[in-house]
Amino acid sequence: LSAAGAAKAGLDRLAQAQGRSNAFITVTKEDAMLRADQVQRLLDARRAPSPLAGVPMAFKDNICTRGVKTSCASKILGGFTPPYDATVAERLDAAGCISLGKLNMDEFAMGSTTETSFYGPVQNPWDPSRVPGGSSGGAAAAVAEGSVWYAIGSDTGGSIRQPAAYCGVTGMKPTYGTVSRYGLIAYASSLDQMGPIARSAADCAAVLDVIQGRDPRDGTSLDAPAGGLLSGLTGDVRDKRIGLPADCFGDGLDGEVRAAVLAAADVLKQRGAVVEEFSLPVMQYVVPTYYIIAAAEASSNLSRFDGVKYGWRAQGYEDLTGLYNKTRTEGFGAEVKRRILLGTFVLSTGYYDAYYKKALQVKALIKRAFDEAFRRYDLLLTPVAPTTAPKLGESLNDPLQMYLSDIYTVSVNLAGLPGISVPCGFASDGMPIGAQLIGPALGDAAVLDAAHAFQ
Ligand code: GLN
Repeated sequence: LSAAGAAKAGLDRLAQAQGRSNAFITVTKEDAMLRADQVQRLLDARRAPSPLAGVPMAFKDNICTRGVKTSCASKILGGFTPPYDATVAERLDAAGCISLGKLNMDEFAMGSTTETSFYGPVQNPWDPSRVPGGSSGGAAAAVAEGSVWYAIGSDTGGSIRQPAAYCGVTGMKPTYGTVSRYGLIAYASSLDQMGPIARSAADCAAVLDVIQGRDPRDGTSLDAPAGGLLSGLTGDVRDKRIGLPADCFGDGLDGEVRAAVLAAADVLKQRGAVVEEFSLPVMQYVVPTYYIIAAAEASSNLSRFDGVKYGWRAQGYEDLTGLYNKTRTEGFGAEVKRRILLGTFVLSTGYYDAYYKKALQVKALIKRAFDEAFRRYDLLLTPVAPTTAPKLGESLNDPLQMYLSDIYTVSVNLAGLPGISVPCGFASDGMPIGAQLIGPALGDAAVLDAAHAFQ
């Protein structure tokens, strides 16, 4: 298959699916075909820059791409076309990737269903009456429907792993600081990390080999060794110690999801891993801690969208304050406003100590509890979400319930750890179920290797 053939196959599939799925916000068809010709010349000359050369992919729409609209699925960034590429886009470009466009998501990555998008919801390819998960719902749907081979998503509290689980594909949030956040429009900077959604752990490894690595343009970028993940995969889990936090298998977890994840644990056991239950009581604090910190950082990060510098501006204002008010009132959706208000509240004088400072202290406790667990275990295995994908329209009226469903994923961001979601079975209604493997900081290779055991 030539690069142009692959791009065309992806674009054809996309054209077929998009009308229903709405996975894309922007499709860059002409650019993709031009690019495919360029990359084909490299392939013909046997000068493929990476195993990803010529492979069609797409970016979540909160990742800046030079000359291509980047909206965060928000009205407020409707007219924003970045003059620069995010580091991940730059690296993938150098690796010969063919981008087919920009993927739908929850507005500013706030949500778990992709229903908060200004561009309308995305359908789950397995069942059009269900959500694809979120916030990288377009990314997971595009991979599952076969429009792209992989997508780059972002994960602040589960936004790569949970949609991957709901759509039956594989998604990895790498160790915080290993993928440069330069050019990722920030939601909660201390938690945000980009990563791949693909069809297998091996494909995720190939993508991470390209996008991980030190970048001086991101102050939190680590100077850790990068590359070699794909070539290092063995799928060998013999004698690996895998911990199952009992607190992740209790009340609130759907019975079929529990059974599927425990079956995944059995697979690892049969392959020679030592699987053991243990207690991780900090799990009861992770959701409130996450939502305080994420909202606080979001309220600060989103203050830059004021109608002056970027994107869309309201009409008919009287003075500067009026311009800010009107633009933000009309430009942000309800969920984003809720987070900004919550974040402003927990940071305000008189409440800072009780909420934000306390949350930072609990975050340190959570990190310590995970550090301790990794003294006894190489990896942890948990569910990704308490249920399979909910029906479209079910979650929007009950934000608290939606927040609670992030329980298994947010701790990984609070502790800065690598986590992957791998398909581990189906519920009786035919919807896919995901299992999550979590590793210690910089244990990305071990996480991918254990995930590879399932493929
Ligand atoms: N659902 C979580 C939230 O709404 C996680 C989102 C994300 O990881 N971007 O904050």
